[in-house]
Amino acid sequence: MSYLREIRYEIVLEDSFWVFRNCPKCGRKAHFINTKKFRVNANGNKLDVWLIYQCRECRHTLNLAIYERRKVSSIPREEYQRFLDNDEELAEMYGRNIQLFQKNRADVDFDRFKGANVNSITVSGIRCYDMGLRLKYVDIESMSQPDVEKAVCERVENGCKNLYVLVNYTALFSTRNVLKRLEGNK
Ligand SMILES: [Zn+2]
Repeated sequence: MSYLREIRYEIVLEDSFWVFRNCPKCGRKAHFINTKKFRVNANGNKLDVWLIYQCRECRHTLNLAIYERRKVSSIPREEYQRFLDNDEELAEMYGRNIQLFQKNRADVDFDRFKGANVNSITVSGIRCYDMGLRLKYVDIESMSQPDVEKAVCERVENGCKNLYVLVNYTALFSTRNVLKRLEGNK
């Protein structure tokens, strides 16, 4: 019988966050998903830009404010054009930006972590404290380690058999490199 550590790394490219909130049309709490479309409203020289979410059940829309009453000149021209073009990559980037949800007081659906057969959750990366706080709001305990490599190593040392590494797009390639390197050291 082998006592060699069996370590499975799994990288999951997380899609945009889902929002869980009351849907007035459905009359109960429902999941809202990223439509990857923007809404831009110009009023004089002030701009409002929203990322449009919609209820998965009835498509009732939920607008998440990216910019509110901002001077046109203060928004980068290139980004402005991408809003008008409904640039999918930009919409996904905002859909994974936890600060957008905090700003809009939109509850992100972390419930699938709750009660799942998870031993521990470690949040990592430059936004790890924001993320940890967000989880705390919904009563999910987590540990924080800003350094991704340290976080993975610590969990491999002290964790159980399977380690799942969930990354957002920004961290995808750097995290993959870290895991590749660790695999080489095994
Ligand atoms: Zn609905």
